[in-house]
Amino acid sequence: MRTGTLGVNLSGLLPIIRRYLYTHSDVFLRELIANGVDACQKLLAISSAEGLSISADQLKVEILVYPAKRQLVIRDNGIGMTEEEVERFLTVIAASSAREFAEKYKEADIIGFFGMGFYSAFMVAEKVEVLTQSYREGSQAVRWVGDGTETYQIEPAERPEGRGTTVTLYLSKEYDEYAQVWKVRQVAEKYARFLSIPILVEGASINQKPLWRQHPTQVTSEEYKRFYQLLYPGRPEPVFYVHLNIDYPVNLQGILYFPPLRPEMVIEKNTLSLYVRGMFITDQLSEILPPYFELLHGAIESADIPLNVSRSQLQVDPTVRKISQYISRKVAEKLKELADSDRQAYEKVWDSVGPFVKYGMVRDEEFAKRVKDIALVKSTTGEFFTLSEYKARISSVKDPRGYAVGFYVNDMKKQGALSQLFQAKGHTVIVADTVIDPYWLSHIESSEGVRFLRVDAEEAAKWLEESDAGGALTLEEIKTVKEALERLVKVKVEPQAMGEKGMAALLLREESHRRLYEATLQGSVPLPSRLIFNTQHPIYRRYLLTQDIRWLEHAVDWARLLNGDLGESELQAFLQRDWSLLSGS
Ligand code: ADP
Repeated sequence: MRTGTLGVNLSGLLPIIRRYLYTHSDVFLRELIANGVDACQKLLAISSAEGLSISADQLKVEILVYPAKRQLVIRDNGIGMTEEEVERFLTVIAASSAREFAEKYKEADIIGFFGMGFYSAFMVAEKVEVLTQSYREGSQAVRWVGDGTETYQIEPAERPEGRGTTVTLYLSKEYDEYAQVWKVRQVAEKYARFLSIPILVEGASINQKPLWRQHPTQVTSEEYKRFYQLLYPGRPEPVFYVHLNIDYPVNLQGILYFPPLRPEMVIEKNTLSLYVRGMFITDQLSEILPPYFELLHGAIESADIPLNVSRSQLQVDPTVRKISQYISRKVAEKLKELADSDRQAYEKVWDSVGPFVKYGMVRDEEFAKRVKDIALVKSTTGEFFTLSEYKARISSVKDPRGYAVGFYVNDMKKQGALSQLFQAKGHTVIVADTVIDPYWLSHIESSEGVRFLRVDAEEAAKWLEESDAGGALTLEEIKTVKEALERLVKVKVEPQAMGEKGMAALLLREESHRRLYEATLQGSVPLPSRLIFNTQHPIYRRYLLTQDIRWLEHAVDWARLLNGDLGESELQAFLQRDWSLLSGS
């Protein structure tokens, strides 16, 4: 046995590696599998040149665990190394690339920590043993043992399997989970299941076919769905998918899936995975793809995405930008294809596709131009309109400044009754109930020159005005009721004829105030509101006759009930009052 010293100063290196990879400790396994796969691929490449007649299916990377001994073994039957190569590769190249890596990324946040290499093994292991034998005829196997310091031992050895490399990790106590089959299988599957060299965990293959590499014309919709289940087991079926496949001007393959609408849509993160040469790199793609892609599922693969640059450099990388633009264009095209060829099918998936389209329109001008014609609004009665169809419908409803006005609800349960008042007057009320809708409506307002009013907006009330004011209170009576109501509710009170059978009162808030309030203030100050009372409603005549304030309290509660604002105990009081008023007690 011989003790050697690394040609590279390792002092301080391991703590750095450990710190950077602390939150990504799984990465070491990817690096070691990648080395095994590289070794197999190198052998394949040499094989044809040197006439060795080795085929891909004879090659493999095996992962074995020994929980009792706290050992993890990664074994390949690839190219192997001679003693001289072990010295050169593991002690000079590997050490210096690890050093370079650590220095380069001291401050930068890099995507996937790719290329960390062999020394990442020391993140989780106290000692690493490499037993290797070169593919060259008559090569002597060697054993290399290192503990992450500058010295290592090397000696001639026997490798019963012959050609190839066995890396044994003597795991440190805190990482003993990597000596558990389930854990190792989970990590290996995550990173390596789409590699083309067979990978076996405790004898069982983990390999899967990366469906995205196939030509879209050769994949059936069943296969797309099955592949989705492979990526997201147990998830409900996706509603739509886009297969990406180009070589020029960038290399890119992938499948993007639109999952069915989930109420928590914006919260779910990191649902799209990036692969490079079959190896999983990361699911944090915010620097590579526009933010609205966070709503999609699936996998993309590209050999053109630079991995060893910081995330901030990635954002401005011209290739990454091209990829991002291509993906966004392609997705828009595919959606347009569906919308143009089968409007019914498109409307059916709109609830799930819509949030993505809307988010994209708000965040990306180019994308907005592409999908503008296929963005839909849905009415409370379940009809769909494109923006231009919708604009045509509302063109006769103009506000004082001449803008076309559209009415919407964001909560059908709360605003359903109010919405019916507008529908009864012939208006189309649309549903805007996803998290992105407030932003999208603002976007449409400025790009299309329309105005949206929620059905409980103060400004919307005038469209409920009744032209025939028969049976309304006199001016004198209106004044009395108004003053009494003002004493009761402490908000501004306005009279308006809304029909004998209309609502007794509406409690409304100014649209822009409410939006600002919801977007920024979030309850820190009370939101001003206004009470509109219906001068044609019989309840006020009752009040004037009896002078019983309960009639007015009742009218106000009706308004709050209509807004869905009545709490549990208030509702009780309301019902009691209702009964006593009706029974005349
Ligand atoms: P990288 O793979 O980025 O070059 P590593 O630190 O992972 O850096 O490895 C350094 C070198 O050691 C590799 O380039 C390769 O030549 C050699 N090596 C590592 N693992 C193996 C293996 N399993 N079989 C053959 N050679 C290996």
